[in-house]
Amino acid sequence: MLQTVTAQETGEMSAFEIAQAQIDAVGDRLGVDSDLLEILKKPTRELTVNFPVKMDDGTIRVFTGYRVQYNQVLGPFKGGIRYHPDVTLEEVRALAAWMTWKCAVIGLPYGGAKGGVIVDVKELSPREIERITRRFTSEISIIIGPHKDIPAPDVYTDAQVMAWIMDTYSMIMGYSVPGVVTGKPPIIGGSSGREEATSRGVLYTTRQAAMILGLDLAKARVVIQGYGNVGYNAARLFHEEGGSKIVAVSDSRGAIRDKEGLDPLAVKAHKDETGSVAGFPGAEPITPKELLAEKADVLIPAALSGWITADNVDAVQTRIIAEGANGPTTPDADQVLFERDITVIPDILCNAGGVTVSYFEWVQSLQQFFWSLEEVKQRLEEIMVKAFDRVWEMAQEENVDMRTAAYMVAMKKIVRAYEIRGIYP
Ligand code: NAD
Repeated sequence: MLQTVTAQETGEMSAFEIAQAQIDAVGDRLGVDSDLLEILKKPTRELTVNFPVKMDDGTIRVFTGYRVQYNQVLGPFKGGIRYHPDVTLEEVRALAAWMTWKCAVIGLPYGGAKGGVIVDVKELSPREIERITRRFTSEISIIIGPHKDIPAPDVYTDAQVMAWIMDTYSMIMGYSVPGVVTGKPPIIGGSSGREEATSRGVLYTTRQAAMILGLDLAKARVVIQGYGNVGYNAARLFHEEGGSKIVAVSDSRGAIRDKEGLDPLAVKAHKDETGSVAGFPGAEPITPKELLAEKADVLIPAALSGWITADNVDAVQTRIIAEGANGPTTPDADQVLFERDITVIPDILCNAGGVTVSYFEWVQSLQQFFWSLEEVKQRLEEIMVKAFDRVWEMAQEENVDMRTAAYMVAMKKIVRAYEIRGIYP
C-alpha cells in the first residue's frame, strides 16, 4: 500500500524517503527498469536561496527558500509555494515528487515542482510578506517562467502572493507575464471557479465511485472533517449539486451532527461569525471520534494528514472515503480499508481538481482568452471522470487499492514518455 504522509507522522522515514519508497514499490510492480527508477527517485533541479529583506523596523533579516523542480518529462514544472517555519528542503522534495504523480495521473501536461520559504507569516506585516515574496521571486526568477515552471498557492500563500510573484516576474521581464503563476485574482488573469475547484473534483470523483458502487448520491449521507476551503465547498456542492445530506462536519474547534441534514451555507455563516462550526443552532455537538464513526455513505477528510490510522480505522462506517485532504490515511489504515472493501479515492486523484483548474488558468493566461464558469466546470468534470475511470480500471485489473492504481497509472505515463523521448544526449 502506498501513502503520501509527512515525515512527522512516520517517525523514522523522512517524507522524501517515503516518496522514494513509493517509487520503488510501484516500479517493482510495473517491472520498470531499475536505471529509470533511479532517475525518478531524484529531483531534476534544486535551488536554495538565502536572501535579505528589510523589515518594517529597519532591521534586515536573511530568509531561506527553496524551489525543487522534480521532473519535467511530461511538460513544464508545476507546483505550489508554501510559507511555513517548518519548511525543509527534504519536505519540499517530497511534495515536488507527489505533484509529479498528481499531474501525471490526471493527464495534465506538467511535471512536478514545489517551493517554500522558511517563515512564520503570522509574525509579519502584509508589507513584509510582500517584500519577502518579491525578493524570493527575484531569486528564483532564473528558473521559473510560463514555459519552464509555474508556481501556485500552497500553505500560507494566497492569490495576493501570486499577484506579487506575477508582478515581480513581469517587472524583471519588462512586460506582463500572467502565465508565470496560477491561483491569481481573476482581475489579472485568474480563472473562474478556482476557489471551489478542489471540492468540485471531490464531487465528480465521488459521484463516479457512487455510480459504480450502485450508491445514489442524491440519497447519500455525507460526513466532512474540516470546514475550510475544501471542506466547506465540498459540503455546499454535495448538498446543492449532489443532492446529498451533510449529516456531520467538524473543524479544529469542534464537531456537529444533524441526522436530518445540515444547511452548509448557514453553518459557514455561523463559522464566519463565531470562528467555528461548534455551537451551530439545532445541531448536536459530537466528538471528533464520533464524527469518524458516524454511520453514513461518504466520509470526506478535508483537514490534516494522518487522520485515519490503524488505531481508529475500524470505527469507519462509510462505503467511500474521498480524500479532499492530502495524506489523511496512513498505510496501515489503507490496508484495513482495502480488506473491508471500503473504496478510498486517493488524494492525488480526488483533490486534483485544484491543479486541474490551475492548468485551465495557465492555458487561459497564455491565450489571453477567458472561459465561462460553465466551461470550466464542464472541462473539469470531463478530465476528473476520465482520470477516475482509468484508475478504477487499473485497480480492478491489478486487484489493488485505488491509491496503488493511481500511482501505477501515473508511473506508466512517465515511463512511456521517457521511452519515447530517450535520455539526452
Ligand atoms: P483550510 O485552511 O482552508 O481549512 C482547513 C480546515 O481544517 C479548517 O476548517 C480547520 O479548522 C480544519 N481543521 C484543522 N485541524 C482540524 C482537526 N484536528 N479536526 C478537524 N478539523 C480541523 O485548508 P484547505 O485549503 O481547505 O485544505 C484542507 C486540506 O486539503 C489540506 O490537506 C490541503 O493540503 C488539501 N488540499 C487543498 C487544496 C486546495 O485547493 N485548497 C487542494 C488540494 C489539497
